[in-house]
Amino acid sequence: MSITHNQEDPLLASVPTGLLINGQWRPAASGKTFDVEDPATGKALMAIADAGVHDSLAALDAAAAAQGTWAKVPARERGEILRRAFELVTARAEDFALLITLEMGKPLAEARGEVTYAAEFLRWFSEEAVRTSGRYSVSPEGKSRLLVTKKPVGPCLLITPWNFPLAMATRKIAPAVAAGCTMILKPAKLTPLTSQLFAALMQEAGLPAGVLNVIPSTTAGATTGPLIKDTRLRKLSFTGSTEIGRRLLADASETVLRTSMELGGNAPFIVFEDADIDAAVTGAMLAKLRNMGEACTAANRFVVHKSVATQFIEKFAVKMAGMTTARGTEPESKVGPLIDAKSRDKVHELVTDAIDSGAAAVIGGRPVDGPGYFYEPTILTGVTEGTRILSEEIFGPVAPIITFTTEDEAVRLANNTEYGLAAYVYTRDLNRGIRMGERLETGMLGLNTGVISNAAAPFGGIKQSGLGREGGHEGIEEYLYTQYIGVADPYAS
Ligand code: NAP
Repeated sequence: MSITHNQEDPLLASVPTGLLINGQWRPAASGKTFDVEDPATGKALMAIADAGVHDSLAALDAAAAAQGTWAKVPARERGEILRRAFELVTARAEDFALLITLEMGKPLAEARGEVTYAAEFLRWFSEEAVRTSGRYSVSPEGKSRLLVTKKPVGPCLLITPWNFPLAMATRKIAPAVAAGCTMILKPAKLTPLTSQLFAALMQEAGLPAGVLNVIPSTTAGATTGPLIKDTRLRKLSFTGSTEIGRRLLADASETVLRTSMELGGNAPFIVFEDADIDAAVTGAMLAKLRNMGEACTAANRFVVHKSVATQFIEKFAVKMAGMTTARGTEPESKVGPLIDAKSRDKVHELVTDAIDSGAAAVIGGRPVDGPGYFYEPTILTGVTEGTRILSEEIFGPVAPIITFTTEDEAVRLANNTEYGLAAYVYTRDLNRGIRMGERLETGMLGLNTGVISNAAAPFGGIKQSGLGREGGHEGIEEYLYTQYIGVADPYAS
């Protein structure tokens, strides 16, 4: 399907332009607005309200005031709101997909995939809402009784990145709603429109006023800083870079604020000599080019056994060369633009540095001329250990390849990073696959698959990739605290 401006205009007109505070869409107190750009053209799509401190504190007032009543809403009712939201998002999937493509750049087919993934969090947590339980037990000495219950943590600040504008929002909002928390969402300034439309849909699904407040802002630190210091806020859930995550953790320590941190990654993609090479290439395409490489789970380093490296690189290069770079709304688009000029320039800087250090570009290696922030799908061989591209998040369609000869060497290379989010392993030997799961220092492993994200799975990292898990049975726990009540011996007179 080719998208015309006629389809874009009514969609953009349906996106709320205000801040959502206590169930009302309103302008920023300062009256300020900011433009949201299409990264494929560099042109403004529309302007929305730009929240400042006055607005964020009003949002916290609303979230704090709504918390008590919201926590008492039966879990089944909260789950049903999420279920309605799932159905509404599914019914409007095409609108959400187009909006994601317009503000973020990914090809429409990928945006549709994101909508499905994002909607699954609504469905999953609509089911999880009624499954939080406690326990009753007799203490070991046989006298007192122990009652253990789960309660909503309270008002949450949710901060999301630009790379998955809908999925990163639902992955936090759905478990918070299911747990009975109120919240303030601060979406990325580069892609706030999807969150705006989604918040309107949550209102339509029946979410009461004050439960979800949305404050897009161009001054993230100044606008959310006072919230993090305010003792009414009980939880910070952040997805973004490790650099900002570290800073927020330091700020959160002042009030010993509970945090979940989904931070950066540097995933190794390991291909053993016994791997099905065609399957590994298919997996590599997904793990590398999904979202133009702008994913925390993106394969950042290809670690390939020497004996199969030539075969793997040849096949990988053929597939990469077949990927058409074009605006995401164009039917032929397989690779959209990067999010902005700064990101594209950073990708090129890493590629140039690798080439200067002795690597060679098998294909690609350059930004694409013209409007938008496109970068050529690129494969680099001969990359040497210690090169920046192996230690930093690339966040672009670039695959650096290094080789190994023994399993120990592959493990050493893979673990040689401060990050620990995802890894991928291709091997036909199941024992080796399990062993790699045990030896790799990551929160997630794709075994003979290039896609690991799933609403039913606990997503998250170790080391400097973060704290906590999103999705799965674990996801709702991030928004609950455990309370224990000791009860005196019921047989004592
Ligand atoms: P980012 O620069 O860290 O920003 C993330 C969010 O934090 C944005 O909403 C941003 O607002 C906000 N922010 C920036 N500075 C802040 C401050 N001082 N106080 C409060 N909020 C602040 O990251 P990004 O470039 O948007 O996203 C890419 C990064 O996210 C990558 O590192 C990627 O690996 C990571 N990521 C991780 C996961 C995961 O689950 N582990 C998933 C997706 C992405 P502005 O938009 O205004 O800057």
